[in-house]
Amino acid sequence: MIQITKAEIAMHDTTLFSLSGRRALVTGASRGIGLTLARGLGRYGAKIVLNGRHPEPLEASRAMLADEGLDVVTAPFDVTDQDAVIAGVEKIEREHGPIDILINNAGIQRRAPLDQFSRADWDALIATNLNAVFFVGQAVARHMLPRGRGKIVNICSVQSELARPGIAPYTATKGAVRNLTRGMATDWARHGLQINGLAPGYFKTEMNEKLVADQAFTQWLCQRIPAGRWGNMEELVGAAVFLSSDASSFVNGHVLMVDGGMTVSV
Ligand code: NAP
Repeated sequence: MIQITKAEIAMHDTTLFSLSGRRALVTGASRGIGLTLARGLGRYGAKIVLNGRHPEPLEASRAMLADEGLDVVTAPFDVTDQDAVIAGVEKIEREHGPIDILINNAGIQRRAPLDQFSRADWDALIATNLNAVFFVGQAVARHMLPRGRGKIVNICSVQSELARPGIAPYTATKGAVRNLTRGMATDWARHGLQINGLAPGYFKTEMNEKLVADQAFTQWLCQRIPAGRWGNMEELVGAAVFLSSDASSFVNGHVLMVDGGMTVSV
């Protein structure tokens, strides 16, 4: 039987969730959930690379996190443009060093009844919420695979499991991201990578500002969710740290719901 000393247990316990020395690329991190996750990973020791399309808000977020004492740089590129993604990832690896953690977070929402849903909005959702997860995941994995280690966290949604009126195409993309997560794990886990999903329920962000302002929706939501409230973005950090750290070294293809119990209850 393998003997583990008390000292070894104590040392392991204190380092299991540490991200010290790891570099994390977070897509869509100029605001919202991406920015909150970037800050959270940074507080656990990670060096942060913030991505988004627009350099100005990205720089403002970088300056804010740097003021908080975090090690942070920006990498502006459009995640829907595969050439830009490949060039952006190469530049990070060359100028800053290896990407150890990828949080595939950038995403958009478009709402309309399905019979009236425009082709342009459908295409935009597929490009940002699905194609980009493949583009960035593949570009980063090509660097991680020869190193034999790496963490990819794909941001899914309760809509990976549940539909709601007016957002069928979004639901299609998030269901696909759940299964792409399983596919990435199936192809890449044997090479030392862990690829998992993190599925937020309903959180107060810019994407949801119309819903947050809608009293009737908020009342329905609070009755529908066992926890009885909207989520606060900081409540996603623990799950992201777990899936980005050694603590999840044998977890692969899992989608971790952080939804106040919404998906286990009718
Ligand atoms: P958000 O506040 O609208 O932020 C989206 C971020 O993505 C911004 O930083 C945006 O910056 C960036 N982005 C959008 N398109 C991009 C592109 N083509 N290339 C690079 N960056 C791009 O959204 P959020 O609510 O934080 O949502 C973040 C993720 O969580 C999404 O995947 C969303 O589907 C998921 N989610 C959210 C909730 C929720 O309750 N809010 C629930 C479940 C899942 P720029 O516009 O400057 O590029």
